[in-house]
Amino acid sequence: MKVEQDERFREQRERFRLKWNCEDCVLFDPAKGCAHGFPTHRHRKSRYDDPSAALLFCKDFELT
Ligand code: SF4
Repeated sequence: MKVEQDERFREQRERFRLKWNCEDCVLFDPAKGCAHGFPTHRHRKSRYDDPSAALLFCKDFELT
């Protein structure tokens, strides 16, 4: 499911230190990628350097 980013989300992301990216997922290895073999490019932190990038949440995300 895609969700548009807005200013409120960006403010709350910082205030509440929200985590939803691969880098915060127990299944992510920087050298090998996702342990489940999923493509990671749409869930990586760098994607959200673009404030217009739609939010995509991974259904298998597990917080480290
Ligand atoms: S399970 Fe999802 S969030 Fe976790 S590393 Fe794989 S693609 Fe990223």
